[in-house]
Amino acid sequence: MTQTSKNIAIIGSGLIGSLLAIYLRKLGHSITVFDRRPDIRNIEFSGRSINLAMSNRGWNALREVELEAEIKKIAIPLDKRAIHIIGKEEYYQKYGKEGEAIWSISRGILNRKMIDLAEDAGVKFRFEEKVWDVDLPEAKLFTGETERGEWKAYQYDMIFGCDGAFSRVRHKMQRRSRFDYSQDFIDVGYKELTIPPNADGTHKLEKNSFHIWPRGNFMFIAMPNIDGSFTCTLFMPFEGDVSFEKIKTEKEAKTFFTTYFPNVSRDIENLTKDFFKNPTSAMVTMKCYPWTYWDKVALVGDSAHAVVPFYGQGMNAGFEDIYVLNQIIKRHKDDWETIFQEYQQERKPNADAIAELSYRNFIEMSSKTADPKFLLQKKIEKSFAAKHPEKWIPAYTRVTFSDRPYSEALAIGDRQEEIMQEVMLIPNIETKWESLEVENIMLELIE
Ligand SMILES: Cc1cc2nc3c(=O)[nH]c(=O)nc-3n(C[C@H](O)[C@H](O)[C@H](O)COP(=O)(O)OP(=O)(O)OC[C@H]3O[C@@H](n4cnc5c(N)ncnc54)[C@H](O)[C@@H]3O)c2cc1C
Repeated sequence: MTQTSKNIAIIGSGLIGSLLAIYLRKLGHSITVFDRRPDIRNIEFSGRSINLAMSNRGWNALREVELEAEIKKIAIPLDKRAIHIIGKEEYYQKYGKEGEAIWSISRGILNRKMIDLAEDAGVKFRFEEKVWDVDLPEAKLFTGETERGEWKAYQYDMIFGCDGAFSRVRHKMQRRSRFDYSQDFIDVGYKELTIPPNADGTHKLEKNSFHIWPRGNFMFIAMPNIDGSFTCTLFMPFEGDVSFEKIKTEKEAKTFFTTYFPNVSRDIENLTKDFFKNPTSAMVTMKCYPWTYWDKVALVGDSAHAVVPFYGQGMNAGFEDIYVLNQIIKRHKDDWETIFQEYQQERKPNADAIAELSYRNFIEMSSKTADPKFLLQKKIEKSFAAKHPEKWIPAYTRVTFSDRPYSEALAIGDRQEEIMQEVMLIPNIETKWESLEVENIMLELIE
């Protein structure tokens, strides 16, 4: 299907902007993508390859434009978590059913590939052109070297803001009456570090696993890259007993890694070097509404909904925005005002749901993993789900391996939590949690 051709600008050549450009080209539009950064294809990655996890929703969106197979060539399937506890053998937890996996992919390599594919499809890119202002009703944008310097004006039929969590396009929408906006930082930061490959190019840790070292209110994770390295992320409070502010010297960094992550300390030199070289970054949840302005401007991806990364869904949610937008376009053809209305009404509750789920996962990981009652609850849920997989699908599975709405995963998760609260009140639950009695109570509560 094609639409009446329009002259469209997309602000942002990140993952969301470049995929949206491919979709809109296929619908017959003329597309120009603006980015303030230089072309990522000409930048050396300085040995650091930040990666992310692609799951079902991301693949759905890529499959729709026949890119799934191409992108899978640069991704590594992870079918399990590898959990590293001090004093215990590393152990594995399968993600789901046979064949279910999340995929580790380098953000930079993916972004380069998507820009290549968009260019092949006829999309024009204007790099190193920062958008400073947007005239919303006119779909006009202004770029320039500096905010106070001279600006160039461009006239389009429509503009899509894919300019990330601190979007300039949204900033302009924020000045309008009845525009809701909120931004919440968490007190935990993150730092990306690298474990290099073995001398023969192989991976130092099990390759097809998402590695996690949970340590209460801080944790370390590692995902494989195709070059044999692992990108690791250290999540830790900015301030407090064990925190970024407490690690100021090389000696303190080395002590930190050898104390808490002994099995990666053979890479201590590299980890320590990265620790001081790489920035400590903050994480934010950003919500806003509306996401569109008449039939002229729309926000897609992080510019509309930034979430904390503890569910690995930010990019997946943005890709799903595009997939859903395309489905709505198929229903309403050239009626962009209706398309934008339906798009924001359908996506907003789902964006709020994944924001909530991601935030809850952060709380769970940072404060609840040391609570024996919480751990028992998780054990009961897991054992029940293993016996009745069709009756108890965990929220993680609903979010990661399904394309049902995020809002449904949240609602069912809430109902499961209510059931578990009742189960946890059963007298002596600590000793009889594996009994038939408890299983039957759960079955009754589900009905
Ligand atoms: C630590 C961490 C881990 C994550 N892990 C995962 C994961 O495992 N799975 C997952 O699905 N998601 C993950 N995410 C989320 C994911 O990275 C984002 O959701 C995704 O990158 C958003 O893409 P985007 O294109 O909307 O925005 P961005 O990637 O921020 O791109 C915005 C683009 O707009 C450009 N731009 C901005 N302002 C202007 C302007 N004024 N003029 C011109 N250009 C402009 C920028 O240069 C940039 O290229 C993670 C995020 C973090 C922080």
